[in-house]
Parts: sequence; structure tokens; C-alpha cells
Amino acid sequence: MTRFEAENHLSSSQNVGLFLVRRSESLLDSYVLSVLTEESVMHFVISRNGNSKFCIKGGPSFITIQELVEHYKNNALLCGIKLKRPSEKKKPVLRHLSYNTVGKWERPKEEFTLVKRIGTGHYGEVWKAIWNNSVPVAIKMLKADDTDSSNFLKEAQIMKCFQHRNLITLYAVCTRTQPLFIVIELMKHGDLLNYLRKSNGSFTIVQLIDMAVQIAAGMSYLESNCYVHLDLAARNILVGDNILCKISDFGLTKLLKGASATEISDGNFPVRWTAPEVAIKNQVSMKSDVWSFGVVLYEIITFGKIPYAGISNKMVLVELAKGYRMQCPKECPQPIYNIMKDCWNETPSQRPLFSTLKLQLEDFITNNYSPLY
Ligand code: ATP
Repeated sequence: MTRFEAENHLSSSQNVGLFLVRRSESLLDSYVLSVLTEESVMHFVISRNGNSKFCIKGGPSFITIQELVEHYKNNALLCGIKLKRPSEKKKPVLRHLSYNTVGKWERPKEEFTLVKRIGTGHYGEVWKAIWNNSVPVAIKMLKADDTDSSNFLKEAQIMKCFQHRNLITLYAVCTRTQPLFIVIELMKHGDLLNYLRKSNGSFTIVQLIDMAVQIAAGMSYLESNCYVHLDLAARNILVGDNILCKISDFGLTKLLKGASATEISDGNFPVRWTAPEVAIKNQVSMKSDVWSFGVVLYEIITFGKIPYAGISNKMVLVELAKGYRMQCPKECPQPIYNIMKDCWNETPSQRPLFSTLKLQLEDFITNNYSPLY
């Protein structure tokens, strides 16, 4: 569990003194005690001293972490809080409909009960449904009159290769009868763009940046597996409980063998999110999505404003070629704007990696909002 996950997890409760112990992300062989206080979640590094005993800086040492925890139930930590009770373990992410369906992607339609329509996309409708009266799922249906079923199913093929908590999980497909179904995990709050817009600006900067961290984590997984998404935008991020963000819509996703630039696109890209070299020269590389991520960061910080508002698609490309970039939104901290601008570097190779972006965003929160003792 990362610091951000710990914060999200603990701060969804009101119980001051609620705590958890997790492995440190950055310090080898160390743990961190994360505690909910009146104001925030605080993190205390549990390190080992010369005798291999566990201690929090300035406090006594213990042979086991359990003993350390017991001690701080009776003695206040530096922040004045005593530990009360451990938080419940997070529910594991469901990777399959059930143990018996692992690897058996094709399922009979009768196993799914449609509940209600929750969206409409390019290929057809999206429905909330229940599998075998037990697992809630989302079903993407191909329009009955759509002859482009191979592209529709390509998305499912690609999804079979992925396994990451910030990417939408494929559960099954129903391809024996029309309309074709792609069955994926259901995300309670729908897409991020609407979620941001409906929130009336009620998220804190920490919550907003945490969304970006999660997206960077999912993209970093794609990056390390040489996949480019090519349609990264807030509308294609889905949101679940505790603001869990997952990347979806892999209809344009491609595997890039090696990390060099290549011409593989079909020229049909959302201009406001697409790197200029992709939109103009049809040149896709592992850094194409990084440009789009900068735009997603803009969407997040502005609670869902349209990028380049008031400028036509055609003029967006013209202006970008002249070096124009979106201004720093008034609510955006300068370090976050600097990250956006790095993503919008004209030269793809000079844009940061997603793994770096994730660390930079986490550091921004850690250094400004999240004390570590
Ligand atoms: P495209 O048209 O490029 O395929 P889209 O985002 O317009 O993509 P869909 O992915 O088909 O269309 O989704 C349409 C809408 O349905 C989304 O914007 C979202 O609000 C909702 N939706 C899609 N998948 C889910 C899901 N797994 N859980 C909850 N809501 C979903």
C-alpha cells in the first residue's frame, strides 16, 4: 500500500486514532505507521536500530511491531494521538468473476442480468448488470447495426493482457450471439470528467493530485509493457469507491515493440488530448501518452474544464506548432503546472516517463501536505 492509498483508506473514516502499518515505499527494510489525526493522516517511519529492534525516531525499541503498536496504544505519538484500532484490510480487487471462470473469457449471456443503462459510447450502450446473481459488472454492448465488431473485440483482446489496480479489468466476453458483450468491472462513480464536474470543486488538492498519481501508476504499467493508450483523457478514466481511478477505453491502444517512434495510427485522434507529432505527422511513440497526461492533469486541476476552450480543433494544432501552451490555471500550484509543461515538451524524448511523473506528483504532496516523522 502506498502512502496515498493509506491516506485515502484512513481518511474515509472519522475515527481519530485509526491506524495501519505498511511497508515503506522508499526506505528498504522499514515500515510506516499511518495514523488518522483530527486534521490529517500522519506517517511515522518504523526503522530498525542496531539490535534489529523496531522503533519510531525518539521512542523506545521493541522486538516486534505488535509490541510497538501496543506501546503506542497507551502512550501518545509525537502528534499527541494514541493508537486506537487498526483499520480494516482493503477488499482485494476482483480479477475474475469467480475462481471457476479464470481463463474462460467466453460466457453464456444467460449468466448476466441487465439492471440499467449507465452510459453510451461510440460502439453502443453501457449497462450495469449482475453476473449469476452475485457479482455486479458493467457490460459494453456493440450496437446491433454495427459491422465493426473486430475493432470492438480488439479492445477486449488487449485488456486480457493487463493486470493492474489502476486499469479496468476485463471479466468476460459474450460473442456467440448479437449484440456482442464486453464484460468489465463496474465503477460506481462513472467517468472522471463528469465526476469532477459534478463535484462543484469540493475535492482538496491532495485528492486531485492523488487521482493524477493513480493515473500515472496505471500508465506507468502500460509504459513498462510497451503499450501506448492513445486516448488518455478524463472521460476515459473511471472512478470507484474512495476515488479509486482506473484507466479504461483501450480501443486505440497499441503495443509498441521497442520504444522507438513509429507510424501506426489511423489519424483519427482527439486533437485536444493528442501530441502534435501524432496528430500532424502520425508519429506515435511511448511518449505520446505523456502529452495527453499533461492535458488530463489540466482537466483534473480545473475540475473538468475543456482544454483550449474557445479555440477550434484546427487552430489548436496551428497554435501548438507555434509554441503556444495552455496558461497555468489560476487554481493550479506552480510545481504542478511545471509538470504539465514538461509533458507538453515539443520533443517527445524530452518528456518525462510515467514512472517519473508518478514520483514527482507524490513528492509534491509529501513535501507540501503530508508530514513524515
Ligand atoms: P468510446 O466511445 O471511445 O468507446 P466512451 O468513453 O465514449 O468511449 P464507453 O467507454 O462506451 O464510451 O462508456 C460510456 C460511458 O459509460 C462512460 O463515459 C461512463 O460514464 C460509463 N461507463 C463505461 N464503462 C463503465 C464502467 N465499467 N463502470 C461504470 N460506468 C461505465
